[in-house]
Amino acid sequence: MVRVYTIASGKGGTGKTTVTVNLGTSLARLGKETYVMDADIGMANLGLILGLEDAPVTLHEVLAGRARVSDAIYEGPGGLKVVPSGISLQGFQQADPERLKDVMKELVNRCEFLIIDAPAGISRDGVIPLAIADAVILVVNPELSSLVDALKTKILTEVVGGKIQGAILNRVGADKTDFVNQKVEKVLGVEILGTIPEDPNIRRAASFKTPVVLKYPTSPAARAIRQIAAGLAGCPIDEKVEEQKDGFIDRFARALFRGRR
Ligand code: ADP
Ligand code: MG
Repeated sequence: MVRVYTIASGKGGTGKTTVTVNLGTSLARLGKETYVMDADIGMANLGLILGLEDAPVTLHEVLAGRARVSDAIYEGPGGLKVVPSGISLQGFQQADPERLKDVMKELVNRCEFLIIDAPAGISRDGVIPLAIADAVILVVNPELSSLVDALKTKILTEVVGGKIQGAILNRVGADKTDFVNQKVEKVLGVEILGTIPEDPNIRRAASFKTPVVLKYPTSPAARAIRQIAAGLAGCPIDEKVEEQKDGFIDRFARALFRGRR
């Protein structure tokens, strides 16, 4: 059974792209044929954080009717397949988000999981991914503005005929997990699929254009994300993981990010 999930939040910067890339990589590592697609066609950065910023054909060209979907699929980390979006303004203007559903249908024939990184906001390109997925996963930070925006996104999803799977709480302080979980579950009225702590390893890994679940798989954030992926895939968490060896540049980056959030 193919599952198409849209990762949405309403608010920018909650961790949608981080969750998309790391959930996708975790599912691929569990042996599931997994694709991620950057539907944030105005502020694309999924390709950027995977080192695919120079991809010659992107979702922009596909949505403009100038390229085939198959030409916009790239090899990502850990066996993940990636459909990045372009970063040019002109490409964004020429892209027709109405074509997203056709792209999705074509990708669904190739995989077991398709994860769509949605843009923030409620523009047309933001709403279509909410409607076309099997289910929407909300990424929420433990702050009021994020919660309110997630609630709006939930309502919007229901208005356009979409379905909410649940919410992922991201950037939670280590001491507050249970309290925040209960509050958010109550306010949003959706199941909490998992909690990802605030963890500087996410940024450290991003600076190497490598998902944290590969770079630092035993870090608190990576463990949390791998746990959520296992839940979606219906299998136990993959315990056979190895930290990638830190080279000189890694050690330099760690020194740089030490103490920073
Ligand atoms: P969005 O796609 O929703 O705009 P991003 O995934 O780009 O958000 O994340 C925004 C920033 O927050 C990035 O710099 C990312 O590395 C950082 N970030 C996301 N989640 C966490 C976390 N759990 N701990 C620390 N930093 C995080
Ligand atoms: Mg993003």
